[in-house]
Amino acid sequence: MRLKAYVAAVAMVAAAVAAVAAFAVPMRAGAPIYALVLLGGLIATTEAVQVRFYHRDEVDAINVMEGVLLPLLAVTRGWPLVVTAAVAVLAGDLLRRNNVLKSVFNVSQWVLAVSLGSLVFHAMRSGSLPSAAGVGALVLAVLVMSAVNIVAMAGVLTVAAGKRDANKGLALSGHVVGIAASLVIGVCLTATYRWTPWTLAIGFLLIAGMHLTGRSYAAVRADRARLEGLQRATHALAASLEPVDAIPVFLAEARIGFEVRAVQLVLFGERGTTVHTCAGPVDGEDVATYSVSVQPHALADVLADSLYEPAHLSAVGDASAAARELAAIGHQRALAAPLRSGGETIGMLLLFDHTGMEGFETGELTIAAALSRELVGFLQRVELLAAVEGERRKLTDILESTSDGILTIGADGTLTSWNAGLAASTGYTADEMVGTRHFGLLRPRDAAGRDVLIERWVEQIDSSTGMPQELQVVSSAGQTVWLSCSYSRIAGGEDTGDVLVVVARNITQARELERLKDDFVAVVSHELRTPLVPIKGWAQTLLNRGDRLSDDQRRTAVQSILAQAQKLESLVLNILEASRIEAGRADGDGIADVGAVVVRIVEDSLASRPDRVVRLRPAAVPCNVRGSAVWVERAVSNLLANAIKYSPDDEPVDVAISVDGDAVLVSVTDRGPGIAADAQERIFERFERLEETRKQTGTGLGLYITRRLARAMGGEVTVSSVPGAGSTFVLRLPVAPVGSVPTSVDATGSAMPEQRSKLRAANVVNLR
Ligand code: ADP
Repeated sequence: MRLKAYVAAVAMVAAAVAAVAAFAVPMRAGAPIYALVLLGGLIATTEAVQVRFYHRDEVDAINVMEGVLLPLLAVTRGWPLVVTAAVAVLAGDLLRRNNVLKSVFNVSQWVLAVSLGSLVFHAMRSGSLPSAAGVGALVLAVLVMSAVNIVAMAGVLTVAAGKRDANKGLALSGHVVGIAASLVIGVCLTATYRWTPWTLAIGFLLIAGMHLTGRSYAAVRADRARLEGLQRATHALAASLEPVDAIPVFLAEARIGFEVRAVQLVLFGERGTTVHTCAGPVDGEDVATYSVSVQPHALADVLADSLYEPAHLSAVGDASAAARELAAIGHQRALAAPLRSGGETIGMLLLFDHTGMEGFETGELTIAAALSRELVGFLQRVELLAAVEGERRKLTDILESTSDGILTIGADGTLTSWNAGLAASTGYTADEMVGTRHFGLLRPRDAAGRDVLIERWVEQIDSSTGMPQELQVVSSAGQTVWLSCSYSRIAGGEDTGDVLVVVARNITQARELERLKDDFVAVVSHELRTPLVPIKGWAQTLLNRGDRLSDDQRRTAVQSILAQAQKLESLVLNILEASRIEAGRADGDGIADVGAVVVRIVEDSLASRPDRVVRLRPAAVPCNVRGSAVWVERAVSNLLANAIKYSPDDEPVDVAISVDGDAVLVSVTDRGPGIAADAQERIFERFERLEETRKQTGTGLGLYITRRLARAMGGEVTVSSVPGAGSTFVLRLPVAPVGSVPTSVDATGSAMPEQRSKLRAANVVNLR
């Protein structure tokens, strides 16, 4: 609406000024008709072919209309001038098939321009045209016409497109160039006209030549803009390795560069076809829309099987499947470039509906081929990166999941990695250690206790001593941790120094066990030898002087031999049982009569230690438990032996059997030194012996075996103790089903329990 009003206003102003020009400037015998026709033809041609050439980066073309209007106003005047100009411009507009509004505007603005120009020209002119004043008037007339043109165009741009586009168009320098060109053409044509009007025919050649030049230049400009766009597109691929970032930019630039309505990148993948689409107006300033989806793409599928080089497609006048699919997705034309990798089509770049004016059709295919190669390269780089990333993640997972500690340390002593295994054994996390030179926090020392400066590994690794195989470090909790280390030096690149990789296995437990085993061997050999001395001594005495000994002395001798033999037997059985348990060969099936087993153990103990008092409180009911009688015997005899061993000789030991629900309890109570609360769990561990009872001989195996056997039978052994007042060990075993019969025992050479019990019936047993 505003545009129409504006055009109408321009038209009215033009009509008024034309009227003034037609009547104010008096008619004179003017140019011949054929000259007017020639001039009109020239004007119409100029309007129709739109001579266009651009100045620098300006977006608007420079027109030379003023140049061809100038001879008209120079050689004619009055209404023939106005009519010729109006008719000629209109004819040009009709040839261009401009719409009515545009035609009206063009006619009005040029009529206005030429009328004003004529008024100025004739007002200025004095003397004949070839004079200097005449040329000055021509210059002024061109300036006036250009001014009208500039003002009218600026007005139309402001009204039609709003403020933003009003900035577009020609800058001052562009206008100066345009005015100069028009002036040259106008003055030349006017001058040659004076020679003979037929020379105006040269004007046609001039306009045609300029038109062609302008077109070529426009094409070159368009190509340059396009190539720049394509360069930006390839740059997007080169600058990023993230498809999410690169592909939208690439498509947007390709769309602008190729001047197409929409661009699609179709990628065939194992998990379906991914379609990236960029569509929208071609104007560079408008934001095109980008979308990505996983969906079948019939056109790309058809093309993938048949197309190996970029090609143009058209939906019209083509019966091929591709043409049908192109029409089906609502496009007229397309440029399809297959993405080929290793003899396979991995995707398709599709450019839909060319919107650009200028040529480039043949060059497009070459550029599209180059772009598709860039895309393939990009996708391969992305894939490679993903593979490398995957490998790195795998490696990190391995590093993090391994229980071995792994660290790397740079040539300057900076820790560059610290895995979870190391964090677990030292208590220092990767966050605390990586990037620091704080390995010294762990106070590393070698096996001999000498400080080790891991940070200075570069000096040490090739020295005669090398790096220590075993390191002791102090954990964050202050505990000593032993690490068995292996070192490998990795040569660095040009700008990175060498790196030391340390694999550090936590051997604290193994070392501790080793130490305990060493102790154990020493203790066992001592324990095995100790009872042999009195056995040999008493046996010798009995042999040499047996007949001279009193009955009591002989009894003492035999009791001592028996006691020591029992100790030996117990020791050997414990060692055997321990190794059987460790090897997983222990078998605890069967039913054991706890009452009978306990009576026998108490009898045996008292036979060798008649000086001790053991008070036995049997259960009121038979107590059969599930498990091996040998195991029950081992467990109870270990508890009783400890009670006797660790309590004073004049204190009694109490053994009680009771039933508690579905469990049989055997409790052994002594009045010995007791066990400190913090040691009550520890004593059940292998080779564990308390400092305060070290004067008694022992191996640290008894309670360990007792607990393992109790648990193997589905029971447990626990201790409650008041230090200084004594301890009570309770062995809890699950009751055997009612009606089950105790199994006879033949293991480890023991006699059958029933027989042995009878054999020993006469022995003194303190029963209560
Ligand atoms: P050993 O008696 O051969 O040393 P055990 O495994 O039977 O080995 O016992 C482990 C440790 O537990 C003993 O060394 C001792 O320090 C402590 N201990 C066991 N029983 C008692 C007890 N009744 N009273 C005090 N301390 C005991």
